[in-house]
Amino acid sequence: MRQTADAVIIGGGVMGCSILYNLAKLGVANSVLLEMDVLGSGSTGRSQAICRMHYSNTVTASMAWESLKVFTNFGEMVGGSSGFVQTGYLVIVEPIDRPGMERNIAMQQELGIDTRIVSAADVAQLAPMVGVDEDEGLAWEPQSGYADPYQVTTSYASRARDMGTTAPSGARASTLRLR
Ligand SMILES: Cc1cc2nc3c(=O)[nH]c(=O)nc-3n(C[C@H](O)[C@H](O)[C@H](O)COP(=O)(O)OP(=O)(O)OC[C@H]3O[C@@H](n4cnc5c(N)ncnc54)[C@H](O)[C@@H]3O)c2cc1C
Repeated sequence: MRQTADAVIIGGGVMGCSILYNLAKLGVANSVLLEMDVLGSGSTGRSQAICRMHYSNTVTASMAWESLKVFTNFGEMVGGSSGFVQTGYLVIVEPIDRPGMERNIAMQQELGIDTRIVSAADVAQLAPMVGVDEDEGLAWEPQSGYADPYQVTTSYASRARDMGTTAPSGARASTLRLR
């Protein structure tokens, strides 16, 4: 293993592997990622895998929207596959939460996110197996879906390795010394 590196990343989940890849892409290829188990063995591998845009703050909603562009164009932007499947995403809230949901949808639309309020009749068309009432809050994101978190993670790591980085498994970071 390398004794020195320009960047040391601790943790081989999707965040660490994405950072490793993006640093290498920016020219910081003398980097090492330490993963104490195997890549994707943390919460990444247990994720529900949904790629939705419905968040209540602009920062997270914007990040989700930008991430969706990566998931849907993963082969061209990163290489490999994200396993993304565009299913659409239905938001259903109780009547009491409807005003809040509508505010969120307006905020997301301001950001350019493809989302809209729908009716119970629309839901009957989109997802006939789902029963909803007209007074519930209903919204639809046609471009959302799910991806494969393990595949995303290992693809990032693989592309980062192609650029000269290393990401050993079974490498636990035990001490941090700040100089
Ligand atoms: C496609 C996709 C869809 C997602 N959809 C959802 C969703 O529907 N709902 C949801 O809630 N979340 C979702 N997420 C997010 C997911 O659930 C996790 O929150 C996210 O993957 C966490 O990534 P992480 O890299 O921060 O953490 P982790 O995956 O937990 O990675 C941390 C890693 O650090 C390692 N580590 C810890 N300590 C050390 C040490 N001392 N030395 C070395 N290694 C160490 C661990 O072994 C672990 O592998 C999604 C993620 C993806 C990629």
